[in-house]
Amino acid sequence: MSTNSKTFAHKKPSVYIKTYGCQMNKLDSELSIGFLLKRGYTFAEDENDADVILLNTCSVRDKAEHKVYSQLGSLRDQKEKNPELILGVLGCMAQNEGDKIFKRMPHVNLVCGTRMFSKLPELLEGINGTNKRILAIGEDGEVNFDRLVTQRQNRYNAFVSIMRGCDNYCSYCIVPYVRGREFSRPDADIIDEVKSLADDGCKEVTLLGQNVNSYGKGLSGNVTLATLLRKLDSIEGIERIRFVTSHPKDMTKEIIEAVGELPKVCEYLHMPAQSGSDKILKKMRRQYTSAHYRELVEMAKSLAPDIKIASDFIVGFPGETEEDFEDTVNLMKDVRYQNCFIFKYSPRTGTAATEFPDDVGEETKKRRNHILLDLQKKISTEENRKMVGKSVEVLVEGTSKSDAGRLSGRTRQNQIVVFGLPEGSNQSNVSSSLPGKLAKIDIVDSTDLTLFGVIN
Ligand code: SF4
Repeated sequence: MSTNSKTFAHKKPSVYIKTYGCQMNKLDSELSIGFLLKRGYTFAEDENDADVILLNTCSVRDKAEHKVYSQLGSLRDQKEKNPELILGVLGCMAQNEGDKIFKRMPHVNLVCGTRMFSKLPELLEGINGTNKRILAIGEDGEVNFDRLVTQRQNRYNAFVSIMRGCDNYCSYCIVPYVRGREFSRPDADIIDEVKSLADDGCKEVTLLGQNVNSYGKGLSGNVTLATLLRKLDSIEGIERIRFVTSHPKDMTKEIIEAVGELPKVCEYLHMPAQSGSDKILKKMRRQYTSAHYRELVEMAKSLAPDIKIASDFIVGFPGETEEDFEDTVNLMKDVRYQNCFIFKYSPRTGTAATEFPDDVGEETKKRRNHILLDLQKKISTEENRKMVGKSVEVLVEGTSKSDAGRLSGRTRQNQIVVFGLPEGSNQSNVSSSLPGKLAKIDIVDSTDLTLFGVIN
């Protein structure tokens, strides 16, 4: 930790930000860094070099909050050695816990909720040199989507926020309480941002929202996710468009048609089913039935034949019997997902589901969790095996994380592809010129998670 006395008046401090949780949080961190850089702050790569340490937090599970408390505990020593260090907690947990964070961790200076990111520069100025504590968790704070397009982790991919909040109140979920009511960003602003990203070399955008299928609610004119996709599809320089997360109750034929028809919109849907049992879906307040979900999957497979679907499932929700669980197993078998995120239910304080007794034992939750994980692994292995011998289009991202001698990228269906270069090619030239380009890869091998190939 730097021990120099650095006040904001002499030099803009350097800020380190650590992000927990989902893609939305990663984007919020990028936005926050953008607000600070615009005001002359610098960005520290290492927390030991920072004058300000910010933790952008997740609240989805109790465990996620425990992790942050433990991290804050371990930062106490640093703060004692350097009292001028400013320590801040941002995002969902800040919103959820509020001043409880100060009570448990008195060395924290700032608690900044989900609607206050754009006020960060002023909040930090208010703390500088005083070591005071500021709680900023108002729900009326204006959400500012303005970003520095140059401030993103990957040159060729970018997340773009198209909406905020959620009005669905699924009974197990804390998000509506910490992220507030749903509202959509004007499409003209999104189009401008995507054009700027394209000008900066970005090739793939992922549109983000808790429930992107309801995008457009509250905007004037007939603005929907489908109309937005059609407008974005014509932006020059952008090669691929993705969107997450799709709530089944708001999925429309128009959205699926856009996926099937538009050349840049990728054939991939992350559409969480959560359960295959209507009884459990009702208790979860998901507002669709298993039959409706299956109809959507059928529609997607017929209008966009190459489509791959991903899902989330919760096992051991209150009242889940073996029969309910079998319904989930059967749904998984029938849909044949590309990948699934599977969670064991644990009650989240403040959510409606805590009214139900948490009556599925831990051993049963574990067993069901393993059954779904094993089943998904089997399906993914079989589906990926079918790709061997085929040629796929990959957006090259860079050197493979698992093999420095090869490159990696993703298919339109979001499958990871690791590939080598043809023998005799100038390896270093090709390796540096390919990232950001589309390449045809012949698939020669596969596992459940990865396709392996050679460049065509
Ligand atoms: S749709 Fe349901 S699960 Fe998703 S963020 Fe909203 S309340 Fe949570």
